[in-house]
Parts: sequence; C-alpha cells; structure tokens
Amino acid sequence: MLDSIKSLAHQYAADIVNTRRHLHAHPELSFQERNTARFVADQLKAIGITPQEGVADTGLTALIEGRNPSSRVIALRADMDALPIHEANNVPYKSTVEGVMHACGHDAHTASLLGVARILHVLRDQFDGTVKLVFQPGEEKAPGGASLMIKEGVLENPTPASMIGQHVAPNIPVGKIGFREGMYMASTDELYLTVRGKGGHAAMPDNLVDPVLIASHIIVALQQIISRNRPPASPSVLSFGRFIADGVTNVIPNEVTIQGTFRCMNEGWRAEGQRRMVKLAEGIAEAMGGSCEFTIVNGYPFLKNHPELTRRIRAQAVEYMGADNVVDLDLWMAGEDFAFYSQVVDSCFYRLGTRNESRGIISGVHTPTFDIDEAALETGAGLMSWLAVRELMV
Ligand SMILES: [Zn+2]
Ligand SMILES: [Zn+2]
Repeated sequence: MLDSIKSLAHQYAADIVNTRRHLHAHPELSFQERNTARFVADQLKAIGITPQEGVADTGLTALIEGRNPSSRVIALRADMDALPIHEANNVPYKSTVEGVMHACGHDAHTASLLGVARILHVLRDQFDGTVKLVFQPGEEKAPGGASLMIKEGVLENPTPASMIGQHVAPNIPVGKIGFREGMYMASTDELYLTVRGKGGHAAMPDNLVDPVLIASHIIVALQQIISRNRPPASPSVLSFGRFIADGVTNVIPNEVTIQGTFRCMNEGWRAEGQRRMVKLAEGIAEAMGGSCEFTIVNGYPFLKNHPELTRRIRAQAVEYMGADNVVDLDLWMAGEDFAFYSQVVDSCFYRLGTRNESRGIISGVHTPTFDIDEAALETGAGLMSWLAVRELMV
C-alpha cells in the first residue's frame, strides 16, 4: 500500500501542481468561495466521486468508501479561502484578483486533498472503511467555517473516529513535516475598548476627565492580569495593536479607542481572564472619573492535538517520510479554526514544510510575497492518503 500511494502521488504530482496554480490564480475571500467550491466539485465528479455541496453555503464534503464502508471513518480537512492581500510575487500563477491572494497556502491544502481523493479513489478496494473529505470555507474569518460546518453536521452521518488536517509551514524546509502532541495553537479573542472622559483645553486638566491617562493606566494594568492571575504553566498573550487618542498638543480628546488580542490555551483561564480584564478596566475608568466600554469578540478556541492519535500518526508519518524528515513543533500562539474540530473529535493538525531558501521561498504566511515550494504538494497528497489509510487500519 505504501508503495502504491507513493507511486500514485508521484504520478499525479504535476496535476496537483496545476490544480494549486489554478486555485492560486483565482483566489476568493472567506465565505465567498463559490468558484472554488464549484471547481472542487467538478474535480471530484471527474474522479468519480459525488460530493455533497453547499455545506455551510460554500463548503463541501465527499465520501470515499472502501470495503465495509461503515467499519471506520476518518475525516480529512482542507480549507479553501484566501486573504485580502495584494500579491507581490511575479510568478506565472500570480493572483488574477486585485487585492486577494492565497497567502496562507489554502490553495495548497485544497489541491493536496483533491490529490488524496484521486489516490484513494483508485485504491478504494484495498482498504476497509470510509474517508470523509471536508473542503471548508472561511478559515480566516470569524466565526470560522469549521464551526459552521460542525453545526451543519459535518461530524455526523457518518461520524469520523478522528480528523486530520495539514497546513503549509514556511519555516520548515520542503520535504519535512512537523507534529506536536497536546496543546498546539491558541484561542484568539478580539478586545475592543472605548474609554470615555471629558475632553477640552490641555492647560486645564483639572476641569477635564483625561481619557488618555485613564486608557494608559488600563493598558499597563491589564498586563498585570497576565503576570499575576494567569496559571503560570499556561501560555498566554495579551497584545494591544491600536490605541487612538485623537487630540493634539493642546487638546485632550473626549475618548480613546483601544484594540487588542487575548490568546491562551486553557478554556477555564480564557473565561476567567476575560472576566478580570473587563472588571479591572471598568474599575480603573470609574475610579478616575471616566468610563470604559469593553467588548470581547470570542474567536477560535485553542487547538489541541489528541496525544495518542498524534503519536500514532507521527509514527505513520515516519513510515512514509523517514525519521529524519519528521520534526517536532513548538507551541504557536496563532489561531486556526481547525481548533473547533479538535474540541469535538480526536484530531491531529500537522505542518507541511514548504520552505526553500535556495529558491528564495522564505516569506511568512499572510505576507504579499508568500509562496511555497510546490514539491511539497506530492508529499501533501501522498502522506495524507497514507495517514488516512493507516488510521482506518487501527
Ligand atoms: Zn491564515
Ligand atoms: Zn491558514
């Protein structure tokens, strides 16, 4: 089976690259992936697989049934959306859509999963069980396509025993992949504060309530929640990237707006941290004679890789890649909506190396110069096929 998958992945590699290039040239923003979904559906039909379309509007799923299809089900996920970034690369497959770019590699994930579909469809009488393909919209935008697909029953009928997802990694050399058991990525909450006072002439602060000073105290005080209230073993980040006090040298404004992000890997602490932040900010503002309106928009939960499943999949990846090409990942405080699946079903999210320094492919995701070494696509399709088949054997 290993050899069959490797040789099919090799045989289809050029087609998978072409698929990725088509998707890359025609990116669509989150929840607008209509042409992408149609393209994926057409590709699946050409293979001989009938997809279920319109899941969470622009998402789709498909089943590849082996022998005894109900014996065990493994789900594989690819996300399909692009970002509001204008591509700066000069490549033949450059984005044809002004201001929209596949800068997070979701084109590679989708092309790889279509490659998986082709490989496993050919081999379907050689494994027991069912592989469920999940082509998901809207990874980059709240509330996350994963949460919507779960609501629409993607984890039912049939229910997968486990779910596997992969993501390109511009910090890992092409030809290698990375795993991490347990906590891997952070929950992401957006913080919006409006601090109100009473503005006026800066020479007469005794007649005013200075929202700039109040907001400054709030920013400093909130960091103490991270250093004094956070469980010390639990990773957490609080960052503020926007602080707008729109006065001038001699005018104190009426209000200050602040935006930030709160990230952690512990749902209990997440709720507690949020509660403490609101209370502290409102208390400081009130004590200083002003007020603070504090809105928190909950993003994705933290992503946990099921330890036993991840250990097993890592060993299966070693079978496919060789031990030298499987690396360990550090915790990462970025967010990813695959986390929603990981809260419901045993899940493993691993990273596919796409870096190639000798070819200058080093830019990070979400940058206008992001690109991948497309040699990763043969691995992306072959390895994922192998992992699905191996997990069906468990
Ligand atoms: Zn992204
Ligand atoms: Zn992504």
